[in-house]
This record gives sequence, C-alpha cells and structure tokens, in this order.
Amino acid sequence: MRIDLHTHSRASDGTQTPRELVHAAAAAGLDVLAITDHDTSAGWAEAAEAADECGIELVRGMEISTKHGRRGVHLLAYLPDPTYAPLLDELSSVLDGRRARVPMMLDRLRALGIDIGADDVRRAARGTAATGRPHVADALVTLGVVADRTEAFDRFLGAGRPANVDRYATPLLDTIRHVAAAGGVSVIAHPWGRSLHRLSEADLAGFQDAGLSGLEVDHQDHDPQARAELRAIANNLGLVVTGSSDHHGAGKNDHELGVNTTAPDQYARLLELAADAASAAGRATPEIIRG
Ligand code: AMP
Ligand code: ZN
Ligand code: FE
Ligand code: FE
Repeated sequence: MRIDLHTHSRASDGTQTPRELVHAAAAAGLDVLAITDHDTSAGWAEAAEAADECGIELVRGMEISTKHGRRGVHLLAYLPDPTYAPLLDELSSVLDGRRARVPMMLDRLRALGIDIGADDVRRAARGTAATGRPHVADALVTLGVVADRTEAFDRFLGAGRPANVDRYATPLLDTIRHVAAAGGVSVIAHPWGRSLHRLSEADLAGFQDAGLSGLEVDHQDHDPQARAELRAIANNLGLVVTGSSDHHGAGKNDHELGVNTTAPDQYARLLELAADAASAAGRATPEIIRG
C-alpha cells in the first residue's frame, strides 16, 4: 500500500486540475491519495469523481494556514465537515486575507520596477479562491522576470524578500478544535520546515491537548536527523506519524507524488480517529472514496 496524504491542485497553488492530480496519483502507483489544497475544499468534488474513474482511494482534506504566536503553522485537516460554520468562517477570513495581500505584493514589485498588474496574477491564479505567492510567482514567470517559482521566491516572495507580505492566518489551537468539532482530524504539516523556530515537544504536547492527532514527519523539508527526532517525539506523545509528498504538480521541485509515504498502520489509526471524531461531533463528514 502506497499512501500519500498531502497534495495540492489548481484549487489552490498546484498546477494540475483535481482530476489530473488524482489520475497522476493512480498512474504513479499510489493506492491512497489525500487532496489537501490550501484553505479550501473547492477541489473535492472533481477529485472524488476522478477517484471513482481510476480506482484510487481518496481522502478529502485541506491544509489550513494557521498561526501560533507569531509563527505560521500549516495544519492538515482530514475529513472535516466542510460546511461547519466556525471552520468555514475562519477559512473565509484566510481567503479574504489572501485576496487583500495580492495588491500589496504588486505594489512592492512595482516599486522594484517590475511592470506587473492584477490581471497578470488573476490569469495565473485560474479561478482559485486561495490566491497565493505561487500565483504571483507564475505571473512573474509569464512576464519573463524569473525562470521559475523557486527563483521568484528566492528573489522576491520568500521570507525576508522585498515583496513578501504577511496575511491573515487562523489561530492554531482554535482551528484544531474547530476541525475536531467538524468531525475531522488534524495533523501538523512539515512541523520543522522553513521556520526559524522549531516547535518543541512541549508545544506539540499542548497542541495534542487541544485535539491534534498527528505529525507529518516524512516531508522533503526535513533532513534525516529532523525526521528521526520528530519520529521519536511522535512516538513519545502517541501521535500518528505521516509521510507525504506535498506535491504541487510542476510548481515545486523535488516533491513528486509518493516521494514520501505514510505507513498503512498509521493511516489506519488516522481513519479510526476520524471515525471517532465524526461520531463524537455527530456531523456528516466526507466518506473515504474507494474508487
Ligand atoms: P502563501 O500561501 O501564499 O503564503 O504561499 C505559500 C506557498 O508557497 C506554499 O504552498 C509553498 O509550498 C509555496 N512555496 C514556498 N516557497 C516556495 C519555493 N521556493 N518554490 C515554490 N513554492 C514555494
Ligand atoms: Zn502550496
Ligand atoms: Fe505547507
Ligand atoms: Fe502543502
């Protein structure tokens, strides 16, 4: 069983449609795929149809942009009822923040002498509600300013670069509670990726008290030592261990589908916890598609 629990489609900042993503996962030999676009369930319906078409097991999820103190934390939420109002309200605030940030980034880029407009980004975003820096990066590629997303982040959009602008993110602990109340389960994405401050075991234990179920240990942002240390922490705390590609289609190098995978026993535990959460919440949560 090959299980990949973190991927993006054009519903956020991946480059494949949800259908293309699901078919690519089946073609890559995966047995289970989770679609986890940023801050939206917009890709779920098309992904579910595609899973039926190609006989792959599909878990519907999302990657929520949260913050804890001043630190950004990406929270993978699996199988929440996407209509649960407190969760939906928070996601709307994030999407509003994403929209409001684009003109600020464009102002910064124009101040650097780059001729880029809102329409350039709109075209690159192709209708997603979760507009992000990768879409600005794609617009810069189309305009011939940079060669690829990586160069755009390195020169302009990444942390500490001149066109990087903050946006709203939901409070982490509240979001973990909302996901549980929506009948879903939460896993911290790449807990030690791309951040100056590593979350400590005590931090993670506190998140677990709020309802966190797991840690994404095997991720390309983690080197072998980080993976070993995180695995030890997860085992200590009794958190589920996942591994995933964080695939973005052609949008992110070195994140091919299945490059990291989740062990079947850990996936089974996650599904049990999701079933428990759904029955405790008494909500109609998405079923696993067994296509
Ligand atoms: P945003 O949500 O708008 O803040 O943008 C964050 C997204 O940008 C995440 O999905 C990251 O995967 C992506 N990202 C961050 N750094 C890079 C990079 N160097 N190249 C490509 N994508 C990146
Ligand atoms: Zn992304
Ligand atoms: Fe992430
Ligand atoms: Fe991601």
